[in-house]
Amino acid sequence: MHQPYLLILGSGTSNGVPTLGKAYPPDFLADQRNHRTRSSCLLAGPGGNILVDAGPDMRHQLLREGILDVESVIITHTHADHIMGLDDIRAFCLKYQKPIPVYASPESQADIERIFPYAFAESRPGIWVPRLEFREIRPQLAVAGLTIHTFFVDHGSLPCLAFRVNDVAYLTDVSHIPEGVMPALRGLKTLVLDAVRFRPHPNHFHFEKALEVAEEIGAETTYLTHLSDDYHHPVTEATLPKGIKLAFDGLNIQL
Ligand SMILES: [Zn+2]
Repeated sequence: MHQPYLLILGSGTSNGVPTLGKAYPPDFLADQRNHRTRSSCLLAGPGGNILVDAGPDMRHQLLREGILDVESVIITHTHADHIMGLDDIRAFCLKYQKPIPVYASPESQADIERIFPYAFAESRPGIWVPRLEFREIRPQLAVAGLTIHTFFVDHGSLPCLAFRVNDVAYLTDVSHIPEGVMPALRGLKTLVLDAVRFRPHPNHFHFEKALEVAEEIGAETTYLTHLSDDYHHPVTEATLPKGIKLAFDGLNIQL
């Protein structure tokens, strides 16, 4: 049995990096860590794999990482860059011949049902659609042999699900951490934190703010994620304070 881990499937902002329609210097493109797919991670537990968000790059991300199984899905929120790959979950429904549990807030469940109505319609023989089965987000989830402590942070006016497993916390898409959540972030070994771009953003922590929050939380190592093309991996990372790093696609964090 492998050691449980969190695998960064996508470290990019909603556009992905490189962004369509933009030219980049060759040295930027030459660094693979500057190729950022849409924000997502995989929790690999002793009892299986949990996909956290299913954005438009989901299929490519799982192929790239050689992930053959996804037994359940957690949706943090329903912005397009976090759910538009859900249709491809049907491959796993077919593989296991059963619906895939999707952990999502009631608001997220309503959005997903509206956007993918056919995944919830009565099944028709021979028609291959994703079968999704909603599960409630409880403060503590026991999934795939992992204990996942969940909490909601503010993503502009939208709540976004964040979580902690052992000494690792994952906060994609956050512009404010409610005071009540801070105790859940004490004593972290690793924090994955939104830092979308250099300029302030109404719905995300930007670089300076993320550094401030990272210092306040005080994890041993903080990885900044949901990154735009403001970040040129080696150039930016050379300027970062001790304990702060940039996430990249394929980063593996032991749980
Ligand atoms: Zn978002």
